[in-house]
Amino acid sequence: MDISTQPIWVEPSVSVATQPASRTADVGIIGGGITALSAGISLLQAGFSVQILEGREALSGASSRAFGNVDVGASQSMASLIKSHGLVTGEKLWLESAHAAIALQEHIKHQGIECDYLPGGHLKIAFHPRQEAAIVGEYDELTQAFPQQGIELLDSTELSKRWPGRKGCLGLLNPLTATINPYKFSLALLSHFCSLGGNYTAHCEVTAVKRITEEKFELLHNQGETRVTKLISATNGYTSRLTPWLKRRVFPVGSYIFATSPLNEEMYERFSSPHQIVTTAYNFKQYMRLDKDRRLIFGGRLGLSSGLDEMKVKQELTRLAKHFLPFIDSQCTHVWGGNLGFTKDMIPHLGQVEKGHYYAAGYCGRGLPLAWLYGRHVADIIIDDQNLEPLCAVSVPFPSIAMIQALPFRNKILSSFLSLKDRLLFNFNGL
Ligand SMILES: Cc1cc2nc3c(=O)[nH]c(=O)nc-3n(C[C@H](O)[C@H](O)[C@H](O)COP(=O)(O)OP(=O)(O)OC[C@H]3O[C@@H](n4cnc5c(N)ncnc54)[C@H](O)[C@@H]3O)c2cc1C
Repeated sequence: MDISTQPIWVEPSVSVATQPASRTADVGIIGGGITALSAGISLLQAGFSVQILEGREALSGASSRAFGNVDVGASQSMASLIKSHGLVTGEKLWLESAHAAIALQEHIKHQGIECDYLPGGHLKIAFHPRQEAAIVGEYDELTQAFPQQGIELLDSTELSKRWPGRKGCLGLLNPLTATINPYKFSLALLSHFCSLGGNYTAHCEVTAVKRITEEKFELLHNQGETRVTKLISATNGYTSRLTPWLKRRVFPVGSYIFATSPLNEEMYERFSSPHQIVTTAYNFKQYMRLDKDRRLIFGGRLGLSSGLDEMKVKQELTRLAKHFLPFIDSQCTHVWGGNLGFTKDMIPHLGQVEKGHYYAAGYCGRGLPLAWLYGRHVADIIIDDQNLEPLCAVSVPFPSIAMIQALPFRNKILSSFLSLKDRLLFNFNGL
């Protein structure tokens, strides 16, 4: 059977029309994912002209390759954010991230955006008693921030009623989390952007950024050049040497997914909550769900490297899926990966690279809600910086990564350490 290396969401029958690059615009945006589109829509609504320049196919970055989890939480615990940034900022950073997911879900519902929105909740599972303390800590933080929302801890008996796979010892159920089809969502943003008169140009990699006057930038690309007064870098996990300042702060981490053909009736019936996302509490977490067509979508981080060979990824993910869901034997039909954008302090940031050149990036795996929100905020700074709600991400300094050239080597060591920790500390033999 042929296996596609395109995300399962991408519908080849849908052609995404893009326009030639314009010579001038008020705002130029490098990168064509959710950050760019969300910023672009706000800017157009405020009366600016906007040119988005995407280096590859339209919507080919992480935005359309994501798993689809709109998760209410943050990439770090509130306790660890408080430890690093102090009580007020730490708490605020956590709440900003958690509320971004709620805000995005409300937006999808109110605007009636067609993106297979499924409010199925999120079940995080501890498979080893040593993982339980972290699960309980997360439960405390979530229930404090969102009391009376049905957030629950499930013991192993309750857990087995909600999860048909490998036996876990403790579960954290967060009913506030939902899933979307990330491609449909990105496509809806793109069509909104174009309907407002925005210019989206695909296959148009920006190769140089020149400041030509105090108030003007020139962007060089394969269609010539575009002159703009303001500029946004919205390249997240695909940030290159084009913006060296940002490249020293945002680094790519590969994340991979495989999808199967639809489960048969017997397999499907075993899921009492088929729209629920399930994640594991390992250092290299795995995530899984069924989509609306009953296909298993299973993903994880196989180390920290990006650009791994898809067939090797398929083998690894198939083995992991068998470990957690041994009764599923549907064929793998799709396998794909993409780059997450990580930061040294594991929090997202937005601000200015230099006067007039802005960025929003570093969502650390939570970019569906955060790219959407930070795109809007970066536009707000351009539209009227007096009116910007004080976002923590603006005030927290953005640390650079020392000796960036050595990062791939350091990441290799770190990923070996983390997977060793999963094996030794949590007896994880699924790898
Ligand atoms: C496999 C996977 C699963 C994920 N799952 C989830 C999830 O379940 N939930 C969640 O919240 N987040 C998830 N994410 C993260 C989320 O998808 C991203 O954080 C988010 O989409 C980032 O959006 P963005 O617009 O900033 O960047 P992207 O969508 O990555 O867009 C950046 C674009 O910049 C372009 N670019 C780079 N350099 C140039 C240049 N010089 N000129 C022109 N264009 C350029 C790239 O081609 C790219 O298309 C996942 C990511 C991956 C890879």
